[in-house]
Amino acid sequence: MTVTYVHPFDEGSMDQKDLLGGKGANLAEMTRLGLPVPPGFTITTDACRWYMSHGDTPPELAEQVASALAQVEAGLGRRFGDPENPLLVSVRSGAAVSMPGMMETVLNVGLNDETVQGLAARSGSERFALDSYRRLLQMFGRTVEEIDGERFEEVLDELKERRGAASDLELDAQDLAEAVARFQRIFVEQTGEPFPQDPREQLRRSIRAVFDSWNAPRAVVYRNTERIRHDLGTAVNVCSMVFGNLDDRSATGVCFTRDPATGQAGVYGDFLVNAQGEDVVAGIRNTRSLPELAEVLPDCYAQLEQVMETLETHYRDLCDIEFTIESGTLWMLQTRVGKRTAAAAFRIATTLVDEGVIDEEEALRRVGGDQLSRLMFPHFAEGSGAQPITKGLNASPGAAVGQVAFDSETVTALARDHVATILVRRETNPDDLAGMLAAAGVLTSRGGKTSHAAVVARGLGKTCVCGAETLEVDEKAKEIRMGGDVIAREGDIISIDGTSGEVFLGEVPVEPSEVVQYLEGDLAPDDPAASDLVRSVHRLMGTADSLRTLQVRANADTAEDASRARRMGAQGIGLARTEHMFLGERRVLVENLILSADQEQRQEALDELLEVQRGDFVALLEAMGSLPTTIRLLDPPLHEFLPDITELSVKVARREATGKKRSKRDVTLLGAVRRLHEQNPMLGLRGVRLGLTIPGLYGMQTRAILEAEAQVRRAGGTPHVEIMVPLVSSIRELWEIEREIRAVRDEVSAEQGVDLPCRIGTMIELPRAALRADEIAEVAEFFSFGTNDLTQTTWGFSRDDVEAGFFFTYKDRGILLTSPFESLDQYGVGELVRIGAERGRGTRPDLKLGVCGEHGGDPDSIHFFHHVGLDYVSCSPFRVPVARFEAGRAKL
Ligand code: ADP
Ligand code: MG
Ligand code: MG
Repeated sequence: MTVTYVHPFDEGSMDQKDLLGGKGANLAEMTRLGLPVPPGFTITTDACRWYMSHGDTPPELAEQVASALAQVEAGLGRRFGDPENPLLVSVRSGAAVSMPGMMETVLNVGLNDETVQGLAARSGSERFALDSYRRLLQMFGRTVEEIDGERFEEVLDELKERRGAASDLELDAQDLAEAVARFQRIFVEQTGEPFPQDPREQLRRSIRAVFDSWNAPRAVVYRNTERIRHDLGTAVNVCSMVFGNLDDRSATGVCFTRDPATGQAGVYGDFLVNAQGEDVVAGIRNTRSLPELAEVLPDCYAQLEQVMETLETHYRDLCDIEFTIESGTLWMLQTRVGKRTAAAAFRIATTLVDEGVIDEEEALRRVGGDQLSRLMFPHFAEGSGAQPITKGLNASPGAAVGQVAFDSETVTALARDHVATILVRRETNPDDLAGMLAAAGVLTSRGGKTSHAAVVARGLGKTCVCGAETLEVDEKAKEIRMGGDVIAREGDIISIDGTSGEVFLGEVPVEPSEVVQYLEGDLAPDDPAASDLVRSVHRLMGTADSLRTLQVRANADTAEDASRARRMGAQGIGLARTEHMFLGERRVLVENLILSADQEQRQEALDELLEVQRGDFVALLEAMGSLPTTIRLLDPPLHEFLPDITELSVKVARREATGKKRSKRDVTLLGAVRRLHEQNPMLGLRGVRLGLTIPGLYGMQTRAILEAEAQVRRAGGTPHVEIMVPLVSSIRELWEIEREIRAVRDEVSAEQGVDLPCRIGTMIELPRAALRADEIAEVAEFFSFGTNDLTQTTWGFSRDDVEAGFFFTYKDRGILLTSPFESLDQYGVGELVRIGAERGRGTRPDLKLGVCGEHGGDPDSIHFFHHVGLDYVSCSPFRVPVARFEAGRAKL
C-alpha cells in the first residue's frame, strides 16, 4: 500500500494538525467552511519526518505532488510553467505547533524569464510581473540557496536612491527589470549556477528548503525555549498565488478578531495596499490600520468582517488571520487561534463565558499558570513623574528597564553577567531571537502590532514597544537619535512600557501589579478601582479553587513570608528552613558550637542558639494559626556558617607575617574550617548526618520548636507543628533521630504541662529513600519530596554548577529541552516520586505526601504531582497563586 503524503485543501480538517500542520489543517478547515481560499495542497509532516531520517524525500512524493498540482491546474484553468498563462504557487512551511516566522516560505514559484512575460501580458502590468519575479529571486535565493538577503536589499536600496524613492512602490518596471537582472547575476556569483528556470525544479527545491528550515538554528532555539519536540517536522503547503501587489485595488494584511494585546472585542489589524505577503510583517513600509480598509475597499472590508465573525464563531476563540485582496477580490491565506498577551487571555476567556460561547471549565483550560505569573510582573509607578520621550505601539505589556543594546551578541553577553538590556532595533528579524529572549525588553522604530518584534515578543511574554517612529535607530553608530540629536548610546539606561507604548530615558521606578494587589488581598474584585482584568482573574481563580483537590502550601522561613503566603492563599507551610536562624550575628554562636572544647562549652552554645530560635518559631507559628507548619531541622553543611577557608588562611598568615600576635580563636577556627572542608559538600556532612554527628544539635532545635509550640498553646493558639528530618536515606538514621525527638517532646511536654501532638516526618530527596520508602514510612508520619536534591542525585547534576556549564550544550543539542531543575523530569525523577508515594502508602495508608522543591510552583510539574496522588505542593509565596491555579487545571 502506498502512503498518501499529499492532501488537497478540500480534503482535510482542523483536527489533522499533527499530519497537516496547523496552517494546512486550518486552510483545509476554511475551505470546508466555504471561505475563499486559493486552491492548493498540503504535503504531510510524515513526508518531513521521512526526509529527516533518510536525507531525501519519499520516492512516492514527486508523483503525488505532480498529480495534486494537475488538479489545481485543472480547477483554475492555468498551467504551471505555461508561458502564456502561468499558474504560480507559494511553498509554505507549517508545523503542528505554531512557530511564527521561524521557518521559510517562498512566493511566486513558477516564474522564469518566459512566464514572467506571460504574467505581464495577462495582467496587463509589466511592473507587477517583474515585482513578483524579483521577489521570487530574493526569497528563493535566501531560503533555498542561503544567499545573504542583504545582497538583494543593497541592490533595491541603490535603485531606490537613484530614483529618490521612499519605498519600493515607487520603483517602475524598468527599475524592477534591472533588479531582476542584477539578482540573477548575484545567483551566479554566489552559487556558481544560474537561477533555475524550470518551474518544477523550483518547486522541488523549495519543498526541500521548507523541510530543511525545520532545523534552521533559529527554529531550534525557538523549540528549545517553547519546549517543542524536535522530531515533529513541518508540513509544506503549496498554495496557488493570489496577488496583493497587482494594482491599487489590491492589498495584503493581517487581522485579529479581538485585540490580542488587551482582549477587547473589535477589529484589529494592519494592511498595505499594493503589497505582497511578508511586507506587512517585515515592517518594510509603515502599515495602515485595518479600519482604514473600509474607506479604501469598502466591499472587501465588509466581506472580511463577515469572515472574521464566521471564524470566531467556528473556532470559539480569538482568530488571527492573513488575507490578500487581488483586484477587489478577497482571499483567505491563513487563520489560527491567535497568540495573545496574558491579560488578553484572561479577559477573552471570561468574556466568552459571558457570551455563552464556552463554559467556566473551558475558560480555565484556556489560561495557564504561566500567564497568571506574567500578570504578576511589576509595572511602572504611576506618580513617578517620568516624562516619556516618545510613544510607540504597545505591542507586548510589561515594564522593562535596561541598558541599550543594538545586537543579539551584546544582549546575550550582558545577560550572562545578569545585566538587564533593552534590545533596540529598527525592526527585528528572526535572527534576533536569541537577543529578544535574553533582553528585558524590545524596542523598535518600525513595524506595526503584527510586526515580527510584536508577534514574537507577545509569544514570549517579553515587554515590547514597536514602531516608535520618531526614533532613529542607528545600529552601526550604536546610537538612538531624535530629530538629529543623539539621545542614547549603547550602554545608556532606558525604560519602556509595553502596556502604554511609552519610552523613557533613564530608569523609571516600577511598582507591583494590580493582580498581585488583588492576590494579596489588598484589592477586592468588586472594588470600583479594580479593572476587569482583576475580575477575570478572580473568577477563574474561583473556578480553579473549587475544582482542585491538591492543596497548596508555601515555603516560608519567617513570620513575614508566612503571612504573605497566607494572604496569597497558602494552606500551610510545607517547608520552613531553619538555616537563616544561624546566619548574620548568630554565626558566632555556630562558631562557638563548633569550637567548643568540652560538653559544658557546647551546652552553653546550644542554649544560646535555643533562645534565639524559639523566638523565631513563636512568630512563625503565630502567623500560621492552626494551619500545618512543617519545620525542617538544619540541613546545609556547617562550613556554610563558617568563614571562607581562603580568607581566613590569608588573615592568619598576614598576622603572622607582620609579626602581630596570632589570634588564638582564628587559628582554632582555621583548624575547624579545614577539618570541615569537603570537596563535595552537597554530598557530604549535611542533613540528618549533621544531626547524628553533632551531639545535641537536632535535640536543641526540636526543643526550640516545641517550647515555642507550648508557648503559643498556652496563649490560646492551636498550632499544627510538623518536624521534618532532611536527607534521610536509611531507616536507621530516622530511628535514632526519632528517638531523640520523642525524648525531647516528652521532656518539654512534662515541663510545660501541655500536650504536644507534633508529627514527625522526613524528606524524600535521595533515590535510596524513595526506594526504601516502605520501611521509612514505618517511622515517618509524612513525606515531603525534596525534588531539588532528588533531581541532583538522580541525574548526578550539581544544581549550582549546571546552569553555568554544559547545560547550554545539552539544550542546544536537544538532549534536554528544559532544565530538570525548573520542570520535573517526570520519567526519571518523577518515577522515584511515584515509587516513594506508592511504597510509603503501602506501609501507612494515611501517609501525608507533599513536595517542597522548586517544582512545586511549576505548572507541568504540578499536574504530575496531582496525578501521582500527592496531598499538597509547597512553593515560594509568590508562586502560590500559580500553584492554586494549576492544581485546579490539573482536574480538568
Ligand atoms: P508565515 O508562517 O511566516 O506567516 P506564510 O506561509 O503564511 O508564512 O507566508 C508568508 C506570507 O506570504 C504571508 O503574508 C502570506 O499571507 C503570504 N502568502 C503565502 N501564500 C500566498 C499565496 N498563495 N498568495 C499570496 N500570498 C501568499
Ligand atoms: Mg503566515
Ligand atoms: Mg534538600
